[in-house]
Amino acid sequence: MVKIAILGAGSGGAMTANLLRRKLNTDEADITVVDKSTDHYYQPSFYLIPFGYLEPDQSRDIDELLKPDVEFVQDAVVGIDPDERIVTLDESTNIEYDYLVVATGHRLDPTAMPGLVEAWQETDAVYPFYHYEAALEMREALQNFEGGTFLVTQPDTPIKCPGAPLKLTMLAEDYFRRKGVREDVDIIMTRNAEHHFGVQPYRDKLYEIWDDRGIEFWENFSVSEVDPDAGVVYGADGEKIDYDLYAPVTPQFGQKAITDGSPLANGSENGEYVTIDKHSCQHDEYEEIFALGDCENAPHSKTAAAARKQAHVVSKNVTSLIRGQPMLAEYDGYAACPLLTGKGKAMVAEFDYDGPISAPVESKMNWIMDVNVLPSVYWDAWMKGYDPLP
Ligand SMILES: Cc1cc2nc3c(=O)[nH]c(=O)nc-3n(C[C@H](O)[C@H](O)[C@H](O)COP(=O)(O)OP(=O)(O)OC[C@H]3O[C@@H](n4cnc5c(N)ncnc54)[C@H](O)[C@@H]3O)c2cc1C
Repeated sequence: MVKIAILGAGSGGAMTANLLRRKLNTDEADITVVDKSTDHYYQPSFYLIPFGYLEPDQSRDIDELLKPDVEFVQDAVVGIDPDERIVTLDESTNIEYDYLVVATGHRLDPTAMPGLVEAWQETDAVYPFYHYEAALEMREALQNFEGGTFLVTQPDTPIKCPGAPLKLTMLAEDYFRRKGVREDVDIIMTRNAEHHFGVQPYRDKLYEIWDDRGIEFWENFSVSEVDPDAGVVYGADGEKIDYDLYAPVTPQFGQKAITDGSPLANGSENGEYVTIDKHSCQHDEYEEIFALGDCENAPHSKTAAAARKQAHVVSKNVTSLIRGQPMLAEYDGYAACPLLTGKGKAMVAEFDYDGPISAPVESKMNWIMDVNVLPSVYWDAWMKGYDPLP
């Protein structure tokens, strides 16, 4: 009987655990999942909740999401010793493993942007919508907003779902038009890069849409500080932007708590990303360790769409390894980003390591798929380890 430990029960961890449970009998493997939280959130809802396009009930109890023969331990992982094959937990007994899957996602750190925490907690104008609570609170702020500058900024760190700030910006522009206040609102989004979206041909199509709709993009803008009293964001080069309603994307990092002092992340950015082979998802040094999703260093877009594809690869490769068979499954870098351009319209950017897959076309069907269909597919199929079109 082998022991499999899975760290994190988000998109990547929950799906991998349930896929593995379907592949391996209970007399073949014990599967234990650890997560510091009791709830799993559907994070792609965080740019829809502010506008009322999805209702606030967007989480599930992790214990209920996992199959009955998967053990769930609610605790924080504080260390991994890959030589001894031991996971150290904050309060519970340490876990020994034969195979380890790391899926601990991204760490949001609002304190990494000076002034952000005060601006969020002490004013009614700042909503870092990557946090569920802020997405929820932003709904009322949007309803009450009658005019001024609506600002969205991005941090200098890598972020999950790089399309999310663009979607929020376009949905806000459309929302203000429907509300009849568009003429009284300036809409600005910043990014510390030359372009607002990395992948072509979606980028050019987005520039077209933004030009048509008068949405401003400030390129190469690095946020250095928020001044909540003045309602101003300062850039690293001394520029400043006044805001009346502000939706910053929180700075994001790997999970230092589990990679600190561990050889798992040697050589990756900040030493916080688990280093894996970008196709097999296997660790580059320890063959019994795999990682997927936002916590590793493969050069894919950090999305649930990517984690879903990787969950298939990891569960197949771990199963093969356990059974002494060759590992054949390969992840091709697939990611998908439904770019919601306004209420009822979306363009899906789908791409892999080799380049774009889908056409840059807006359609109502894309909106229906993303907003009305995908949440149920996510909860009732993917997260439970069923995938009609893997
Ligand atoms: C606003 C927003 C919009 C998004 N939109 C989209 C979209 O449209 N399409 C898309 O595909 N993706 C989207 N994403 C991204 C997507 O949600 C993530 O890429 C995906 O959830 C990554 O899965 P994961 O398993 O790597 O991490 P997560 O799903 O974040 O799960 C990580 C888990 O690890 C746990 N954990 C972390 N540290 C520890 C620890 N030390 N000990 C124990 N447990 C720990 C956490 O509690 C969490 O449950 C969006 C995200 C946001 C925030």
